[in-house]
Amino acid sequence: MITRTDPSCQTQNTVIRLDEVKSWQQLLSGSTLTLAELLQKLDISAADFANSIDGDPDTAALDFSIRAPAPFIERMVKGDINDPLLRQVLPLVKEHDITPGYTTDPLQEADFNSIPGLIHKYRSRALFIVTKACAIHCRYCFRRHFPYEDNQPSREMWSQALDYLEQHPDINEVIYSGGDPLASSNAQLNWLSQRIAKIPHIKTLRIHTRLPVVLPERIDSALLELLQQWPGKKVIVIHSNHANEIDDSVKDAIDKLKLTGATILNQTVLLKGINDSSSALVELSERLFDVGVLPYYLHLLDNVTGAAHFAIDDTEAKTIMAEVVARLPGYLVPRLVREEANKKSKTLILPRL
Ligand SMILES: *Cc1c(COP(=O)(O)O)cnc(C)c1O
Ligand code: SF4
Repeated sequence: MITRTDPSCQTQNTVIRLDEVKSWQQLLSGSTLTLAELLQKLDISAADFANSIDGDPDTAALDFSIRAPAPFIERMVKGDINDPLLRQVLPLVKEHDITPGYTTDPLQEADFNSIPGLIHKYRSRALFIVTKACAIHCRYCFRRHFPYEDNQPSREMWSQALDYLEQHPDINEVIYSGGDPLASSNAQLNWLSQRIAKIPHIKTLRIHTRLPVVLPERIDSALLELLQQWPGKKVIVIHSNHANEIDDSVKDAIDKLKLTGATILNQTVLLKGINDSSSALVELSERLFDVGVLPYYLHLLDNVTGAAHFAIDDTEAKTIMAEVVARLPGYLVPRLVREEANKKSKTLILPRL
């Protein structure tokens, strides 16, 4: 099922294809684009977009740039302004709306951020901000206003966070987060992982990343080697919101990750206009299962300024989920959760215990 060309196959086409192949680093650094460039790649005219009800935001006023790697853009349907992948990265006029109850730090993470680069909010798990960078800028992201500049990760800063881990034996799992931790170099990840591996009470390494989905080329041999060498358990939580995101290149990346012995789960954000129907969610769970991934969380949107147009209210979310529960085996039903600022775990909405 893998569509990639085999490098040993020396047809003329293959040679041309190999010449064109960009490294993941090139694809990553080339993923920022202007609104005009994004629309042009999808054969959508700027005028059509401007005339649509959502169209023509003042891009100069955007505090969150447009970012999407080419392999992800290639999975969008050309000419479709409502494409569910496009909608995740397309800035709309509505982003400038001021909505009561929406703030720039809805989870008050700043309060749990006393050690720069580390968020220790849940007892047994500590979250490491490995890098502030992401390969994709998801317009609904709760971290879109996060003060990353104050948390610019460096080895010096990590040393403090490592000391904190050593002094807290109740932490048994480290979660690499960000930004997207896999937007970091393998050298940085190696440095960090080798140090964490020396702390005896850390049993599990978890990586929260969108890169296996949006830029599967990132799963290179050095990263796989790093995962192989981690002495404990490892969990990779990918982030996919729609079945169309998962093609054979994603399957290929997941297959490689699974060979390292990692458990692979998926989290999704419930988003209006993208996946707010039982059929979209059922299709996503089934597609994930096709590639060997189990659904983990379905998050209700965090109330972050600029994202209110993606919100689905609790009643509607429960109605959609009731249908999902009726249609899928239990192991393909994600847990519908909300994250609340001062809670010691995510709040489970459905299925109820
Ligand atoms: C979601 C989250 C975790 C992980 O929670 P799990 O329920 O174990 O997936 C850890 N720390 C923070 C700050 C989180 O938001
Ligand atoms: S942190 Fe995750 S959800 Fe937010 S922009 Fe980056 S990849 Fe998207």
